Amino acid sequence: MTEVSLRSLVKRYGKTEALKGISLNVRHGEFVSLLGPSGCGKSTTLKCIAGFEETSDGQILFDDRDISRKLPEDRDIGMVFQSYALFPHMTVAQNLAFGLEMRRLQKREITERVGRAMEMVQLTPYAERYPKALSGGQQQRVALARALVIEPKILLLDEPLANLDAKLRDEMRGFIRDLQKRVGITTIYVTHDQGEAMTMSDRVVVMFDGEIAQAAAPEDVYDKP
Ligand code: ADP
Ligand code: ADP
Repeated sequence: MTEVSLRSLVKRYGKTEALKGISLNVRHGEFVSLLGPSGCGKSTTLKCIAGFEETSDGQILFDDRDISRKLPEDRDIGMVFQSYALFPHMTVAQNLAFGLEMRRLQKREITERVGRAMEMVQLTPYAERYPKALSGGQQQRVALARALVIEPKILLLDEPLANLDAKLRDEMRGFIRDLQKRVGITTIYVTHDQGEAMTMSDRVVVMFDGEIAQAAAPEDVYDKP
């Protein structure tokens, strides 16, 4: 079943054509990486899917419904960026509760969900800590939990490990993939790191200059000359 479908997606910034008509189907529960050099259009693709950028042409479908005109908050998406962007004046629990309070969920439901989310990323003992008292990896786990606690249909990750040191990056790769499998959420993961894309994904989508060069299972991706 197709969860996310991009159809001839075009994005122009003035004269720059950042996306030149890309088409891609992502299945329910699939983990797809967008891999490619800086400037090839990976982030632009995510921003269009999230609704942070308007598309210039083409369609974005979620479960066969065109959502390209919907506001970001109506798209049922969780997103994690390279910089953690946690609220510095809020504790871990408050960071997680915030989006649920905005959605006016009941207090009991919020506490339950925040509790589950903290368990999911193994941060229950840190509920009352502020972000600056956490390591980079822990902060990124809070960011993941904050994206998942709203129970979105689709998870978008934009170079979430880029700010971590090599050892932590390796740990977090496995952590993210395990979490994704457990939750079963459809995930699109942006990276310029071939090793990350190869080890984490069900499918690797190689982008080059605003186009999709290839889309294949990791073992079937070939190096371009
Ligand atoms: P990547 O994520 O693969 O590094 P981007 O999607 O950020 O690439 O960028 C794709 C192209 O679009 C690049 O040529 C970049 O300079 C251009 N671009 C991205 N965002 C903007 C913007 N806000 N204004 C103008 N050009 C942009
Ligand atoms: P407040 O901001 O109301 O002073 P807290 O800082 O204790 O409250 O927490 C904010 C929200 O996070 C609370 O509404 C609660 O639902 C949730 N929360 C706080 N601590 C925990 C916890 N240990 N387990 C689960 N949920 C928690």
